[in-house]
Amino acid sequence: MTSDLLIRNARPLGGEPVDLLIRGGRFSAAAGAAPAETIDAAGCIALPGLVEAHTHLDKTLIGMDWFENRIGPTRNERILADRKAKRERDMNAHRQSARQVLQTLHYGVLHIRSHVDVDTEIGLANIEGVLETRAALRDLVDVQVVAFPQSGMLPRDGTFDLMDAAMAAGADIVGGIDPATIERDPVRHLDAIFALADKYAKPVDIHLHEPGDLGAFCLDLIVERTRALALQGRVMVSHAYCLGMLEPARQRTLIEALAAERISVMTVGSPAAPALPLRLMRECGLIVASGSDGIQGTWEPWGNGDMLERAKYLAQRNGMTNDADLAETARICTFGGAEGLGLAGYGLAEGDFGDLVLVPARTLAEAVALTPQRRTVIRRGRILVREGVPAQASIFDPG
Ligand SMILES: [Zn+2]
Repeated sequence: MTSDLLIRNARPLGGEPVDLLIRGGRFSAAAGAAPAETIDAAGCIALPGLVEAHTHLDKTLIGMDWFENRIGPTRNERILADRKAKRERDMNAHRQSARQVLQTLHYGVLHIRSHVDVDTEIGLANIEGVLETRAALRDLVDVQVVAFPQSGMLPRDGTFDLMDAAMAAGADIVGGIDPATIERDPVRHLDAIFALADKYAKPVDIHLHEPGDLGAFCLDLIVERTRALALQGRVMVSHAYCLGMLEPARQRTLIEALAAERISVMTVGSPAAPALPLRLMRECGLIVASGSDGIQGTWEPWGNGDMLERAKYLAQRNGMTNDADLAETARICTFGGAEGLGLAGYGLAEGDFGDLVLVPARTLAEAVALTPQRRTVIRRGRILVREGVPAQASIFDPG
């Protein structure tokens, strides 16, 4: 659904005020007949739709009873507890994913990449549920579905075949997970998921929490396979904590190698993990995206999915306080994410999709630091949220 819309007095990326015209769902320079609707942005900053480059839509407990978390600190304990909670609670992946998508749409998140569990216990149920949400909400938000072997692929017989089936069922991206510490065989794991990506001509997105030299070794293998299969621009590494743990020369060499293959890195700026060298990554031309990871689930009880707030967390984690650095974190949560997700027609230029969020702030730094809530969210020229209030209540009723 598209609408023609004229937005007066908006400031693209915090620049000088301009009028933005959306015709046929795209930004247009053509004057012609007056559009049906005109709004006054009153000097708000215009950003293209915020990009959530990494979340788990099938894991959120939004709208459900409070989950009392008694889970131990290791990743394995959390994986097991998450599976147990899914069995014992009424976890419906379609309903829960729709709730999160609609909650974050309020903030202006118009593009989401979600990892979705595939394992021998739940089979494809979560994939099917999130694919249903993707279809039901396609006029509001773009959702990319990653087939994600959360519980491990090689150690659990049958998981690889389920991953294959998930791709055949319509998943957009092949997921991977800690090739050494969970899979215990980095070469075999990476060969398998890159072969699946090649078979379906789809991108790859790998959760890589592995530390130091072990993580760096896995990144080397990822670089090799990206080059061999000519997957430049289609591989993302999520977390990549090791980049924040290496000695400077090795760190730079690895970042340059990733940048050369246009492999993007997603970081959430977690306070519990090593900070990534954002300045060096930018200097080397590495594509950097960000995401919320799980919100309000068994893994972590908090999070609201607001990607401007995420930009603030990135700045905090990296000790950034000056305006240019804060503006850079906003760029990561918009253009960086768009590049990492391979979005076409993203931006505020003529011909781009008419998707934007109007933020009442004087500068990008202020938008990141204060995360104003009275935002206006527009997709393809259609106003979804007006100054923080749903334009039509029915849009936000997940049913
Ligand atoms: Zn994740």
